Amino acid sequence: RKGTAVITGASSGLGLATAKALAETGKWHVIMACRNFLKAEKAARSVGMSKEDYTVMHLDLASLESVRQFVDNFRRTEQPLDVLVCNAAVYQPTAKEPSFTAEGFELSVGTNHLGHFLLSRLLLDDLQKSDYPSKRMIIVGSITGNTNTLAGNVPPKANLGDLRGLASGLSGQNSSMIDGGEFDGAKAYKDSKVCNMLTMQELHRRYHEETGVTFASLYPGCIATTGLFREHIPLFRLLFPPFQKYITKGYVSEEEAGKRLAQVVSDPNLGKSGVYWSWNNNSSSFENQLSKEASDAEKAKKLWEVSEKLVGLA
Ligand code: NDP
Repeated sequence: RKGTAVITGASSGLGLATAKALAETGKWHVIMACRNFLKAEKAARSVGMSKEDYTVMHLDLASLESVRQFVDNFRRTEQPLDVLVCNAAVYQPTAKEPSFTAEGFELSVGTNHLGHFLLSRLLLDDLQKSDYPSKRMIIVGSITGNTNTLAGNVPPKANLGDLRGLASGLSGQNSSMIDGGEFDGAKAYKDSKVCNMLTMQELHRRYHEETGVTFASLYPGCIATTGLFREHIPLFRLLFPPFQKYITKGYVSEEEAGKRLAQVVSDPNLGKSGVYWSWNNNSSSFENQLSKEASDAEKAKKLWEVSEKLVGLA
């Protein structure tokens, strides 16, 4: 049978390119878990996906209620779940003030981390039930959260501190950052990506042996053309792609990045659990090192426990 892969945020950028790459193999049915039906449907058509290769289902990660609803709706379709890709993200580098999810969490961490945290915890049961030979859960990471890299050292740097802001609910105008510091949209995104990478490793430690599920994260390269940078100032949007292409040489096209993520979904050579995958300049994959904070097992455990409380699992 075909594998079934759920991809969050498959309506643009990396998620869409991955959905396309998987559909093209003829071996996958993709559930495009998106907040905007019309956009998702239009996007699938625009890249030439055929109707039998995908289903659009509603998921708004900025609402925990919507996450639970999505899980119920998915279960009602009675399809197996073979791979979950947590890909969606928001990035608000120029925001002066925090904005908030339906439950009142700062939007970047609320969407990118807490929404996916609840989704992955609930769907782990479904993954476990699947009889697919290689079941995988992938949470897209980023170099920008990794302070052991050049890109990760561009200020403001990711830093979760002692998680005091998160523990207090990320809900106030003055307590919207995980470390309890002042709101900074670019940092909130980077922090959320560190959470994604810590969560993947904690899932691996807690559940890999028991469930046989492969947990992985990745940095697909700098996909400088995606919607992620939509809120950035126009000059940045103009100069960022050529800067990445010719200066840092970290640039990848959406198509190439989609192929990379599709490898993490289905390539037998990338089946190892607990790995943060990256690709070198000739596009071969390797197991990359995470920064000290993004691989801190103590912090991962604490993040897990605090997040469980916030999403209502503990
Ligand atoms: P895009 O902005 O193109 O795609 C983000 C996707 O997330 C969109 O489909 C968007 O939906 C969706 N999304 C946002 N908020 C929600 C929500 N509340 N509920 C459901 N879906 C939501 O960005 P990219 O493709 O670049 O980003 C994809 C992933 O890649 C992210 O995890 C990002 O951190 C990561 N990444 C990107 C890099 C890059 O250089 N671009 C580098 C490293 C990692 P909609 O279409 O409705 O807006």
